[in-house]
Amino acid sequence: MKSAILFSAPSGSGKTTIIKRLMQYFDCFEFSISATSRMPRTGERDGVDYYFLTPEAFDEKVRQDAFLEWEEVYAGTRYGTLKSEIDRICNMGKVVIFDVDVNGGINIKKYFGDDALAIFVMPPSIEVLEQRLRQRGTESEESILKRLGRSANELKEAPKFDVTIVNDDLDRAVDQTRQVIEQFLSA
Ligand code: ADP
Ligand code: 5GP
Repeated sequence: MKSAILFSAPSGSGKTTIIKRLMQYFDCFEFSISATSRMPRTGERDGVDYYFLTPEAFDEKVRQDAFLEWEEVYAGTRYGTLKSEIDRICNMGKVVIFDVDVNGGINIKKYFGDDALAIFVMPPSIEVLEQRLRQRGTESEESILKRLGRSANELKEAPKFDVTIVNDDLDRAVDQTRQVIEQFLSA
């Protein structure tokens, strides 16, 4: 059964933007809400964008073995996929959509195997990635540098994914992604 589609990319590549567009198109999609120990950004809502946990509450979930996977994506900031989220979505009979970092993507693909489509969203260049992170206006200078610092290594992992989509022109990237997903779901 085709049960999952995961999106990974360096932060700022545009995966959240692409996912939001695709969610409007595919009724069968349900977003896997991750847990994180970071603070919400302006406009982000608990239980919608993330489950925002204190570091202590995150530790407790780790101890309870509640995560399918989790990563300290940036020093001191952890993100993880809750097993309960996957159960919730599978019980609805929907396709689970993941927005996870590159290591998380590789681990989730291993877990789902051929039942998952692993999509890598590639920025046109590191310079454009930096521009987008700055234009998004959500990060401190320190956070931007942390994110950019990881990106070169993350880009090297693209060949481990089933498909790479270059997010240059947004409409074209969304269209290409929609096509590969339609192929995957109908195979
Ligand atoms: P990610 O989820 O990968 O961190 P976002 O979806 O938040 O990235 O996108 C980062 C910023 O770049 C956002 O401000 C978004 O509006 C912008 N963006 C995304 N895709 C494009 C694109 N194709 N062209 C120009 N700007 C884009
Ligand atoms: P942001 O702070 O920009 O929302 O996310 C930072 C990074 O954490 C992004 O690359 C995002 O995909 C990743 N991320 C979000 N949720 C998870 C998760 O559950 N697991 C993993 N491994 N990474 C995640």
